[in-house]
Amino acid sequence: MSLNKANINKLQLSKDDMRTYGYQVIDALVNHFDSQHITKPVAYASREEMDTLFNIEVPEKETPFQEVFDFVVEKVIPNSNIVSHPKSYAFVPGPSNYVSVMADTLATGFNIFSGGWAASPAAAELEIVTMNWLLKLFKFPTKKGGGIFTSGGSMANLTALVTARRQHCGDDFSKAIIYMSDQAHSSNIKAIRVLGFKKEQVRIIPTDIEFKMAINKLKNAIAKDRLEGLQPFCIIASAGTTNTGTVDPLNEISKICKTENLWFHIDGAYGGAAILSKKGKELLKGIEKADSLTIDPHKWLFQPYEMGCLLVRNHKWLSKTFSEKPEYLRDIEGNTSEINFYDHGIQLTRRFRALKFYMSMKTFGLNAFKNAVTYAIDLTDNVETHLRKSSNWEVISPATLAVINFRYNPIGYSFSEKNLDLLNQKISQKIVASREALLVTTVLQNQIVLRMCLINPRTSFNDVKDTLELCESFAKTLVR
Ligand SMILES: *Cc1c(COP(=O)(O)O)cnc(C)c1O
Repeated sequence: MSLNKANINKLQLSKDDMRTYGYQVIDALVNHFDSQHITKPVAYASREEMDTLFNIEVPEKETPFQEVFDFVVEKVIPNSNIVSHPKSYAFVPGPSNYVSVMADTLATGFNIFSGGWAASPAAAELEIVTMNWLLKLFKFPTKKGGGIFTSGGSMANLTALVTARRQHCGDDFSKAIIYMSDQAHSSNIKAIRVLGFKKEQVRIIPTDIEFKMAINKLKNAIAKDRLEGLQPFCIIASAGTTNTGTVDPLNEISKICKTENLWFHIDGAYGGAAILSKKGKELLKGIEKADSLTIDPHKWLFQPYEMGCLLVRNHKWLSKTFSEKPEYLRDIEGNTSEINFYDHGIQLTRRFRALKFYMSMKTFGLNAFKNAVTYAIDLTDNVETHLRKSSNWEVISPATLAVINFRYNPIGYSFSEKNLDLLNQKISQKIVASREALLVTTVLQNQIVLRMCLINPRTSFNDVKDTLELCESFAKTLVR
């Protein structure tokens, strides 16, 4: 189908063409949701291959839309990993859901401006409402508390640190010191760099054998910095490290923050959502004491990219940090109960992120989310039991918040540490090259280990067993 000449310079399609186009998009998506589990999750291609496929000069003239669409479905889409595939175990998977995908389509289709109340009272209200759900869930103060949806966890951490610094240091932060563990997520370091802190203003606190921030070492570092006339101002704790799922000792860190008058930021981008399960709630005790908390709905709350979230104990901290009043926004200020989210974060123009969270919660209900999170935690426990029973596998860090690390180390052989590293690295390479599963390594206490993050409610125990058996068959060819 080609474009109508009258429409083309207005960048429009005819009503019929829009329908045809749209139905094809829906068909492609439904196929994906319905049959992704029988495809392979891994894509890999070199820059050269991708250049050969895609690198063209900007097209000056039109192309039939059907041709463009088919090309994208055949060439672009398959050259990406399927992060919602049941055998996608690496990093943090993205087990999205169809209702939220449709919600995003609506939000984008209607191009709803989610910056200020006047532009869309409904968008602002849905952000307030869903934020209140989250504040309640994490036992943050609902009257005073607040928050903002961001593009992801990185942006939420950045927003938190800007706010923390504004509240605690004002304009002079030359002596301010930030503390986090060696397992804290790299986005925190990035945020600190963006904010213009020097490397010397960050203390990386070692972790104990369970990968938790070592409290004694934290206390020593703070005391020493005070003696040197520096200004400790913020501790970043992890509530679910990405590597092992470990939760830092939140209650103890909270106490230190109280006595030392420090900002308590918790990065719960990975693990925060575990609050929905009984076991997770137990592990996350103390999370309610944070001044600011990052969570990342596009991970374990099953939303499509991009959706992160920052919660704060006092919404005024955000408005005091981010309000600017340019003349052209004068007419849309409104009254204070009518929140302009451009005053609560970095972005002015914002997409309508709250809609997907709202629609998926309303459609499936919180109980479904609770069950999905609980399922993942139980599945990971079962995988741990399974690994411990096997003579081939060794658990390196136990199932914690749906993450488990393990390595191939069969009884009867006595490989050197170096050879075990090599072996496990090769197993991962073979698995990825087979494209059957996305399973990669991480490094824990100098050991190369395989890591599974099992937050996808569509991953079955048999999927994991299949993958482990495939690993074993590759391993056998390697150790012969
Ligand atoms: C994923 C992650 C982040 C970064 O979040 P993005 O959404 O990828 O920007 C930050 N902290 C932790 C602990 C994470 O797991």
